[in-house]
Amino acid sequence: MAVHKDNLRAALAVAFTCFFALAISIRFIKQFFFIIPKDRKKKSSCYLNTEPKPQYTFKRVLADNSYSQFKHLKLPTETSHSDVEFSNLHPYKGEISKLMKNPNVGFLKFLDGCEKVGMEMGDSYVWVESEEQLRELVEVLSNERVFAVDTEQHSFRSFLGFTALVQISTLMEDYLVDTIILHDVMGLLRPVFANPGICKVFHGADNDVLWLQRDFHIYVVNLFDTAKACDVLSKPQRSLAYLLEMYCGVATNKLLQREDWRQRPLPEEMIQYARTDAHYLLFIAYCLCMELKSQKNENSSPGDEFHFLLEASRRSSATCLQLFGKDIEGCPGELAASSIVSRCLNDQGNISSNLCGSKFQELVRRLCLWRDIMARLHDESLRFVLSENAIIALAAKSPTTEIDICSTISIADLHVESTILGPLQSPSPVVCSHFEDILCLFQENTPNLDNIFQQFIQQHLGPAGSCPLSAYNYALLSKTSLKLTNRSTPNRNGFRASKQAAKKASRQLFVQKFSCKSPVYHNCKIYANDGRLLCYCDRRKLEWYISRNLAKLVEEDPPSIMLLFEPKGRPEDEDNDFYIQSKKNICVGCGEGNHYLRYRIIPSCYRMHFPERLKSHRSHDIVLLCVDCHEIAHAAAEKYKRQVAEEFGIPLFVRKVVDSDETQDISASSLPISTSEEVGVSPLHLRTAAMALLRHGPQMPSQRREELMQIVMKYYGGREITNEDLERALLVGMTPHEKRRFEKKRGFTFKHLTKGINLNNEGENNSGGKANVPIQNASTDETEDSFYTIMTETDQKQDHDDTDGMTSDIKTNPEIDDISGNGKISNGTNSPAYVRDISLKHESKLSLLGHGPHGKQVVEYLLKEYGEEGVREFCQRWRQVFVEALHPRFLPAGWDVMHRYA
Ligand code: AMP
Ligand code: ZN
Ligand code: MN
Repeated sequence: MAVHKDNLRAALAVAFTCFFALAISIRFIKQFFFIIPKDRKKKSSCYLNTEPKPQYTFKRVLADNSYSQFKHLKLPTETSHSDVEFSNLHPYKGEISKLMKNPNVGFLKFLDGCEKVGMEMGDSYVWVESEEQLRELVEVLSNERVFAVDTEQHSFRSFLGFTALVQISTLMEDYLVDTIILHDVMGLLRPVFANPGICKVFHGADNDVLWLQRDFHIYVVNLFDTAKACDVLSKPQRSLAYLLEMYCGVATNKLLQREDWRQRPLPEEMIQYARTDAHYLLFIAYCLCMELKSQKNENSSPGDEFHFLLEASRRSSATCLQLFGKDIEGCPGELAASSIVSRCLNDQGNISSNLCGSKFQELVRRLCLWRDIMARLHDESLRFVLSENAIIALAAKSPTTEIDICSTISIADLHVESTILGPLQSPSPVVCSHFEDILCLFQENTPNLDNIFQQFIQQHLGPAGSCPLSAYNYALLSKTSLKLTNRSTPNRNGFRASKQAAKKASRQLFVQKFSCKSPVYHNCKIYANDGRLLCYCDRRKLEWYISRNLAKLVEEDPPSIMLLFEPKGRPEDEDNDFYIQSKKNICVGCGEGNHYLRYRIIPSCYRMHFPERLKSHRSHDIVLLCVDCHEIAHAAAEKYKRQVAEEFGIPLFVRKVVDSDETQDISASSLPISTSEEVGVSPLHLRTAAMALLRHGPQMPSQRREELMQIVMKYYGGREITNEDLERALLVGMTPHEKRRFEKKRGFTFKHLTKGINLNNEGENNSGGKANVPIQNASTDETEDSFYTIMTETDQKQDHDDTDGMTSDIKTNPEIDDISGNGKISNGTNSPAYVRDISLKHESKLSLLGHGPHGKQVVEYLLKEYGEEGVREFCQRWRQVFVEALHPRFLPAGWDVMHRYA
């Protein structure tokens, strides 16, 4: 019989080897036909690109796969250090400790009905899969004094595991909560689970308590654990199967607990199993409580009938005090490696001891490290990535080809029992998509483990990485991003690849730098003193009111306050139910929740010129977008700007500027129409020429200097120019912010003009009446529209220099038009007549190199021709452009293209 089995294995092994040989030769043939250069190794594509995993639909993941410690819930009431949102303490330590000293067994009398009602399990149950249903369930539970709970989790295709189902039973109904579809809103159950007035009955709650913390920040306060009751009663067994049999006469197939609970719809048999686990718990708790009460206690005074019951309750509460934490090793995979090595050393029969030499041990360590990283990256369990047997076989054989690796692993896994999840995939798709990693591990000259770690993360998740980023692995990358970006990447893949990598890298950095680090909308509520909901706000605002005794906290989750004074305005004053819509911290385009940036639907170059009244309610037109949606929306907006420019005949960029002092004869009327090609110069050319002359003038070849001088002279109407003129030319159209930046970055000081520039007087000409661009201390809060001006509150002070590389497109490629240096513009001869009537009194806030002047003219034109209604319609056009470009699916409910400002 044994011989027969071995033959079968050998045959299978041969079959496997042949199959993989064939598969791999097909790969080579493909490569040949697509003529992929030999030296450029094809980057493997990760299986995750094509395999959807249910947990990838989660928008927010509390326990990610990074090596950093889990952060527990921090309650708003203990925010003495108001900035800390999470902590490593139990948020309900106080309540639970109170319960341990003084257990609340008041729920018992509510179970009295159990007996009479009987605990037969009927056909009806509620499958909870919508937020609405979950809210109803919360409502039901908050009116109960006791309910039963059980959870099912999935751990094979996930690194830390996740809760796939929560079963809740009241005396009236069984609820099955689909925690995959409701993952992001499960927090709704937090209050009932934390309510010490409601008893939660579990059986063997140790794991469930931790899983609920891990996935939903749900903390159980007031637990009655039927397994703890069994301990106190010294029952011969404490399993639920035993209790079900004993008290309810129900048989259950515990093998089902190992099924794949991610399945939807759940097979009937699994639904029955899941219901059974919670349904009978209330009745079992009732029976056990009766027994606990009737236990004789020799040590306590007669009448102390609660002694044992209280003990069971205390032990249950002790379970609740446990905190979920991630196992964090000094060196990832180390524990698994030493366990494997010691297993091999002890298991003489399996591997001869000389095979357990230092090379073998080193390879085991490397494989375990790789397995750990890959499991985290792909959110898979360790055993799914690579079995222990496979690690031992690989380390012993140290294969050098893909075929070798495959056959070694699949032969090793012939000894592993297949799981209920279907035939074991061996080698796993993780191995199959990343063979080159394993080959690299076996190379003698592979750097030390630290470097391997960095290298793998970079290869897989980095700028040009092979594997998708997710809520689970994102932090893995950002934690190590600094080191990664400082490291110079070997440029093996040629120019194009490196350019792409650079693009992706800068994009990644951009996401990290500019995406909002903490949720933008906190969904805290502010109520008026008559209980009317006024608006939503963030925590900081809420704390501001409370700390000044201007409001009191009325709800904890989400934190809500009631104002103690009569607010000035009410939301109902205006037709603005938008302002009391809860805003979600997700991209309104695609729902992405990991990163998002603010996006202004009405480009700043226009909005900054709106009358104050129309500017004030701008939250409607600032939405959150992920980088991808941001890019789409921005591109559409830039395109539409060009359309606006054409339609209104107002060019996007200023083409020519002239110094007014020198053109007075031409500009006798309100507007100089530069009919002569000789007059005026592009502001960009002017600035570049003036700068070159100031910095390198004396060293320049005289011909070049002459060319540049001609450019500057055009601005001054052709007259001879001085150094002071050069400095003034440099300042043309520069905003104070740009000027400061310029001075800082280039180390440039305006030697010749220092006395001449009045930094405070808007609109007044400066000394000598010559500096035509008035300098003022303008607020830089509104900047021109570049992709990167959309920043978070915390980032707003960040110097724009940091994004220079990314804005250069816009800045170096202006479509040029005319403007006079004193702020009067001309638009050439082919502009519609009305444009000539608009004079642009140039504000120093506006950079002449940006879209600001264009925006100003457009808005002035709208106001002049159509009044504020024109501006409102203009806003609606921009919302339409936004909606058409993005088809956003997650806009807040009150959002409307036709939205009207108050
Ligand atoms: P239960 O409440 O007993 O059905 O178990 C809850 C969860 O624990 C199940 O969904 C499984 O994920 C996990 N679990 C419990 N026992 C086992 C086991 N023997 N093997 C694998 N998973 C288990
Ligand atoms: Zn991958
Ligand atoms: Mn269960």
